[in-house]
Amino acid sequence: MKKVLFVTSEAHPLIKTGGLADVSGSLPRALAELGQEMRLLLPNYQALESKEPVRYLCRIDLDGVTVEILESRLPDSEVSVWLVDYPEYFGKPGNPYLDAQGKPWIDSAERFTLFCRTAVEIAMGRSELDWQADIVHCNDWQSGLVPALLSIEDNPPATVFTIHNMAYQGLFPRSKFVSLNLPPQLWNPDGLEFYDMLSFIKGGIAYADRITTVSPTYALEIQTPEFGCGLEGLLSHRREDLIGIINGIDQDYWNPETDEYIPQQYKSTTLKKKSLNKASLQRRFALPVDEEIPVIALISRLVQQKGIDLVIDSLPHLATMPLQFIVLGSGDKSYERRLENLARLYPGKIAISLGYNEKLSHLIEAGADIFFMPSRFEPCGLNQMYSQRYGTVPIVRRTGGLADTVVDSLPHSIEEQSATGIVFNEPAADSLLEATKRAILLFQDKRSWKTIQQTGMHRDFSWQNSAVQYLKIYQQLRPAASTAQSKTETPASA
Ligand code: ADP
Repeated sequence: MKKVLFVTSEAHPLIKTGGLADVSGSLPRALAELGQEMRLLLPNYQALESKEPVRYLCRIDLDGVTVEILESRLPDSEVSVWLVDYPEYFGKPGNPYLDAQGKPWIDSAERFTLFCRTAVEIAMGRSELDWQADIVHCNDWQSGLVPALLSIEDNPPATVFTIHNMAYQGLFPRSKFVSLNLPPQLWNPDGLEFYDMLSFIKGGIAYADRITTVSPTYALEIQTPEFGCGLEGLLSHRREDLIGIINGIDQDYWNPETDEYIPQQYKSTTLKKKSLNKASLQRRFALPVDEEIPVIALISRLVQQKGIDLVIDSLPHLATMPLQFIVLGSGDKSYERRLENLARLYPGKIAISLGYNEKLSHLIEAGADIFFMPSRFEPCGLNQMYSQRYGTVPIVRRTGGLADTVVDSLPHSIEEQSATGIVFNEPAADSLLEATKRAILLFQDKRSWKTIQQTGMHRDFSWQNSAVQYLKIYQQLRPAASTAQSKTETPASA
């Protein structure tokens, strides 16, 4: 049994902006079920939604400031959540990364440095918590300084750093390195320096004992210039310590048999009932209620990564086809405007709901026939797995976790009942259109369609599978040892 401090900037259902929250809400729980002693460390954001009681545990002094540690619990689990309470940073309206006006926090570097320093004190057993970590499992740039700071401690715990998205790196001007009073020995090209900038993510990639990312394909992709965001050299240098583990999903929360957010529950043997959800979805979006017309849906952050421009470029053509198209999302204002315009231009065909709406996302998964995920890159992606569970056939681009979790529908794969979606290669509107035409032809072939739906619904995307792979990594790691230094002996590309 290992004592694991799981350091993360978001965790569902306490606070969520994206897939990282889903992972942080599920993986520690699954690892606890495998016998590990898990502690989740999270900032005590004002926006945190905790129905669990919160109690004061202790104070920790750091470099002139004092934070309080509060304790809560991951709902419906035995996993303790330790909250870093520092109202000056975290007690303000906004989300973990953006202020109430939607602008990145001006003091992001300060906020997450404080968070990382707190993690180090707890991990080293220097707090009054009477607890010392065997392993510190960090996630994304917000906790990237932890492996770096631990590397200069005597006898530190082992570290794992999970990359959920290489595109977010936590880059700040060099002056921040100085004003944050970070240890000078960490400033070098094999350390936190990235082209004269301070890089939080490099703290994780250069110093952690093991690096994981959220799908095997993405683990390979990030070692190439196209996906490595300038860190491909370092990642490739560390490839022996880099492994891709596909995320699981919360199969209780995303279960059409028990989903309380949908009007009609159903399963693979009662797929006919899905049409009631479809009708409800069509009404909700003021679209003609018609069982025969395929409903295509997209739920996403509206950003370039997700291939929203491909969707927008395809929509005028798609609107001439017999289908309905539904979007739920928010993000880039220009995408939002263009999608709203298209919805105005094609009423009864294209409908959009701007904003974040968890409940509606369940109705969409349950009611749609086809789900769009034409991402330019996708470390893992979750909605393609939710879609398969709900018998909603995903159309995905062959990248990252999408390539690892969706099996293309070709005559032989349909025949041998392994097909679960439509996969296309090029990040281009034409390719997306082609894929959509393929999907619509298949939709009309009721027998094949049902086979594809049922194959997807029977797949096991549980966290247990993934958690076992993380556990193997934990077990391979040395017990507290003195070897942790920068793992990059030769100069990396950055
Ligand atoms: P990413 O983390 O890159 O945004 P993922 O597919 O890994 O992408 O996870 C996104 C998660 O956020 C999914 O659970 C998805 O359903 C959810 N989501 C994204 N946008 C919305 C929205 N507007 N309303 C509800 N849920 C959303």
